[in-house]
Amino acid sequence: MSLADNLAAVRARIDNAARSAGRNPQSITLLAVSKTFPAEDIARAAALGQAAFGENYVQEAMDKIAILRPEWPALQWHFIGPLQSNKTREVAAHFDWVHGIDRLKIAQRLSEQRPADRAPLQVCIQVNVDGEASKSGVGPEEAGGLAQAVAALPNLRLRGLMCIPAPRSGLAAQRSPFALLRQLRDAIAAEHGLALDTLSMGMSADLEAAVLEGATLVRVGSAIFGQRVYADQNG
Ligand SMILES: *Cc1c(COP(=O)(O)O)cnc(C)c1O
Repeated sequence: MSLADNLAAVRARIDNAARSAGRNPQSITLLAVSKTFPAEDIARAAALGQAAFGENYVQEAMDKIAILRPEWPALQWHFIGPLQSNKTREVAAHFDWVHGIDRLKIAQRLSEQRPADRAPLQVCIQVNVDGEASKSGVGPEEAGGLAQAVAALPNLRLRGLMCIPAPRSGLAAQRSPFALLRQLRDAIAAEHGLALDTLSMGMSADLEAAVLEGATLVRVGSAIFGQRVYADQNG
């Protein structure tokens, strides 16, 4: 299948899931996850109308943004990988969103380093919904406190929660961690009086389950760009 076919098929999957949940398909943003794929692939997707792209590795993303910005200045860049404190400056300068906030220190640095001429950096707190030791994210019980602290930072705008559940098969099993994230978002919004409009959840294999549970942004890579081949340093 071509990139155009892949993009159309993913959009159709989102739209069908939205309709079966009684949701407006336009309330769900498709984030095209372009990590490991070259700038040319992003330009082709942009020419097809795709506006938002997700990247995991700072240096790789910087290189691609530099190539693409002259011709595609309006693309929206989302940082979705783990972020170390020595890389926050580049992310604060060049990205529109960061999805994986799980430490106050990183959020504070991003806020301090956000250039004054840019809109606030839009951020989500990553929640480790399965309690996997290997995964990033705060535990569900810590998410509310972190949300309150992040929401107070001047140059960030806290939009909601994000998760990467362990792979599961079957729609019902896939839905359960997404339902948990939605309930947690609702509880934190109510308890702390925060307007959290974003649930960043669902990938190529489980986006229907995420949309059925209220995802407002799905992060889709391989179903759009194809199988990834990792260079050594990216792991
Ligand atoms: C790579 C990645 C994705 C996309 O995964 P696919 O299975 O290729 O759709 C989504 N979210 C995050 C955080 C990722 O790292």
